[in-house]
Amino acid sequence: MEKLNNSIDRSWIDKFNQPLIISGPCSAESEQQILETANRLNPNYVQIFRAGIWKPRTKPNNFEGIGKKGLEWLHQVKKNTGLLVATEIANAEHVKLAISFDIDVLWIGARSTASPFTIQEIADALEGEKNKIILVKNPIHPDIELWIGALERLLGKGIKKLGVIHRGFYTYKNSKYRNQPNWNLLFNFRSLIPRIPIICDPSHICGNKEGIFDIAKKAYHFQSEGLMIESHCDPDHAWSDAQQQITPEKLLEMLKQLTNFKKFDQKSKRDLDSFRIVIDELDENIIALFSERMNISKKLGSLKKDSDIPVYQPDRWNDIMKKSLIFGRSLGISEELLEGVFKLLHQESIKIQNQIR
Ligand code: PEP
Ligand code: MN
Repeated sequence: MEKLNNSIDRSWIDKFNQPLIISGPCSAESEQQILETANRLNPNYVQIFRAGIWKPRTKPNNFEGIGKKGLEWLHQVKKNTGLLVATEIANAEHVKLAISFDIDVLWIGARSTASPFTIQEIADALEGEKNKIILVKNPIHPDIELWIGALERLLGKGIKKLGVIHRGFYTYKNSKYRNQPNWNLLFNFRSLIPRIPIICDPSHICGNKEGIFDIAKKAYHFQSEGLMIESHCDPDHAWSDAQQQITPEKLLEMLKQLTNFKKFDQKSKRDLDSFRIVIDELDENIIALFSERMNISKKLGSLKKDSDIPVYQPDRWNDIMKKSLIFGRSLGISEELLEGVFKLLHQESIKIQNQIR
């Protein structure tokens, strides 16, 4: 891991003396839409313009991207504004075309990162392209090894100007997020590869406009070195991800509001903030699990009632307690904590089941 960490070339991001902002529409739709959005972005804050040309859609027959002609529009943005330009690539053909239009930054989408064949094809196609900046989004599911494996495949082909994007993870549970962030995983990722620039994509985490600011703020405190936020000159009429795109003016307002945005806090303060963000996330998970457990208790209560079985089953309770203490001990958790929590859980469960009678 140390070798991987040391091989990363950070020069592309270190040259910015403020957090990196990547913005632009989810998809390129027309030349006018691309140029207008780019012209309305404030170049004092935004350094890279993004637009998807090939769009990975969950179902067929949706808009799947404008294709090659969008690359010409991106090239135009680069000439007119001086911004670097970025697009998503998902196969060797995309890589070849993007290079031929002099696109500066290529990002690999979450679905592609999940596929080692796809990543290898992209890495092979990029061989020898020393100047391209490659950003690797997290895979759809929270597999840290797969994410790191993608970086290894790229480094193996001499691609060193790398960064990663945290865009959240698919979850089958009800969630207020489109893609659940996982700060704990990110924390581990950063401990393993401290030199890799981490960029956060609040747009795809939230799936709506309202949550973007909070996630951006969290990411900033989490030592993310940049943000990728979707913006559109006319968000309500966007051809993809309309719910989560904001106008360039709204983006500017948001960026100005991020506290001390131009200046990174001291490292120790940011480490403290990072730990607190992970603790908050874990506490939320614990509460969600309590709720799931109580829902099952209710169902169990009805079943016991229908089958005329007493609520309190001493053997079962002793068994739960014994197993929990053994498991807890193996994880270094004190018996006092486990006993306390499980007694309360059990009492609550009995109460719920008695209420059903
Ligand atoms: C995107 O950035 O528009 C996109 C499709 O992202 P993701 O791969 O994170 O879903
Ligand atoms: Mn999108």
